[in-house]
Amino acid sequence: MSSEQLSLFEDSNPNQKELIPTDAKIAIPPGTYDNMSELAQHCQNCHRCELGDTRQNVVIGRGNPQASIMVVGEAPGENEDQTGLPFVGRAGQLLDKILASVKLDTEKDVYICNIVKCRPPGNRTPTTEEIAACKPYLLEQIRLVDPKIILLTGATAVKGVTGDKRGITKIRGQWMEWEERLCMPIFHPSYLLRNPSREKGSPKWLMWQDIQAVRAKYNEIIDW
Ligand code: SF4
Repeated sequence: MSSEQLSLFEDSNPNQKELIPTDAKIAIPPGTYDNMSELAQHCQNCHRCELGDTRQNVVIGRGNPQASIMVVGEAPGENEDQTGLPFVGRAGQLLDKILASVKLDTEKDVYICNIVKCRPPGNRTPTTEEIAACKPYLLEQIRLVDPKIILLTGATAVKGVTGDKRGITKIRGQWMEWEERLCMPIFHPSYLLRNPSREKGSPKWLMWQDIQAVRAKYNEIIDW
């Protein structure tokens, strides 16, 4: 390749990178972003899918971007859209309490984000196209955080990350390996808000079993 050809090739990449927020057809190869704030800048200007037209704020993540545990939810809701932070409504407060019950600090031990970064109108489930448009950002977040454990809250998060379409009640609490990372599907905290019983076998009771298993695995990992 001549030096002229080489410079053309080099020039094409930055241009392509600038186009990422404009069109879901533009790939986001692994290593595109050096850090979370670079990724956030693209997300803040993003219109890769139509959720970008109706959001108030893009919701990137909260917590420690170097955490060993990552929590991936479905999509921002109203409170998240208003504040630009994930899991800040009642479900988010419950998630923080669940993590705190096994002495996991959401600011220190955990990084929290969603499959899609913009709120679907009326809190509907994000479409397959919206998930596909946003997923490369999530993959970059996972690469940057490099968590040892990923908790997938609810069936949409499980399907969006791993492609597994099984119902959450079937697979919750089971460790699965995805891209050489340990993942555990758990109930979405909003499901627990709708099912407040604490009786043995109830969703809350099952969550308590699952989060203890997560804590035990985390202890194993940090002791290595
Ligand atoms: S949901 Fe994701 S892909 Fe769609 S506009 Fe928002 S940041 Fe872009």
